[in-house]
Amino acid sequence: MSSTFRALLAEGARGSYTTEIKELPQEALPDGDVLVEVVCSSLNYKDGLAVSGRGNVIRRFPMVCGIDLAGTVIESRVAEFKPGDAVLAVGQGLGETQWGGFSQRGRVAAAALVPVPPGLSLQQSMAIGTAGFTAMLSLMALERHGIKPGERDMLVTGAGGGVGSVAVALLAAAGYKVAASTGRPELHDYLRELGAGTIVDRATLLEKPPPLASERWAGGVDSVGGQTLASMLAATAAYGAVAACGLAGGVEVPTTVIPFILRNVALLGVNSVQAPKPLRIEAWSRLSRELPRDKLERMTSVEPLSKVKELSERILAGQIRGRVVIDVNR
Ligand code: NDP
Repeated sequence: MSSTFRALLAEGARGSYTTEIKELPQEALPDGDVLVEVVCSSLNYKDGLAVSGRGNVIRRFPMVCGIDLAGTVIESRVAEFKPGDAVLAVGQGLGETQWGGFSQRGRVAAAALVPVPPGLSLQQSMAIGTAGFTAMLSLMALERHGIKPGERDMLVTGAGGGVGSVAVALLAAAGYKVAASTGRPELHDYLRELGAGTIVDRATLLEKPPPLASERWAGGVDSVGGQTLASMLAATAAYGAVAACGLAGGVEVPTTVIPFILRNVALLGVNSVQAPKPLRIEAWSRLSRELPRDKLERMTSVEPLSKVKELSERILAGQIRGRVVIDVNR
């Protein structure tokens, strides 16, 4: 093992910092339970915010960016993991309060790690990453609420992005009818291949509807927020539910209480970062079993660590399709 490693390091202070790839000595690694040789990470919207210096993602400096990682255990001081194990971490403070995955090496708290489930490679686990994991948590929340496959469409917003692409594929694989909302006409064929039966122009969801629109959706997964979420709630059928996990289109939701009190519509919050370990293990096991591999491959590209800064601008501009695995060794 080399005595140094490369990582994308944020240096400075809150509100004013720079991010650069640096060669760091092994001694720079913080204390932690498990030393991991990182093989890959992934690009998420939150990484875009952190790497480009926007948002308030990074809470401590210096910080290695990257909210996801997958790799092989080199050393462990806990019985749960041993050298050679394939492990992954998504969220859990990585890239925010704990050094993250845009790095060739990491020392990670055992509590943050889960084994890569059988049937998934390290690269496939990062093709899923936080975005895909969040799509599965959203599906699980909808199921817990009793939303079953039926005649009405489930609407996925931000469908061309990471959460959206995985949500379309997962819902379709589980037997739901899926409507995919996108602002990119060039992605219509792609979204149909992932399992969408209907395509919705996202501009139509930006128009303010009456408090109750006609019942169109059985529910859905929203990664956009803002007026989009409000429009979705207004057209959700009685006893439907929407899993809200994102803010790509805004944080303020101009809704009324009418869908909730006249149609029993439920708004289900989803946060992947603090998901407890049993829930993470269950979600990863289901992802391994239920996400069709051909669809995962269709939505994934692999890019080098050296391009993360450029890719961060592109994800914030809504220009990334599906998921991007980051090869930390290039
Ligand atoms: P992506 O950038 O990959 O996807 C977001 C998609 O939203 C875009 O591809 C685009 O889809 C659509 N979009 C972007 N800007 C706008 C806009 N102004 N108005 C309407 N639609 C827009 O990001 P991710 O999939 O990684 O993340 C999506 C969101 O979910 C982010 O807000 C992220 O922070 C959040 N998130 C939350 C998590 C949680 O734990 N709650 C975990 C993971 C992500 P199209 O071009 O198809 O219209």
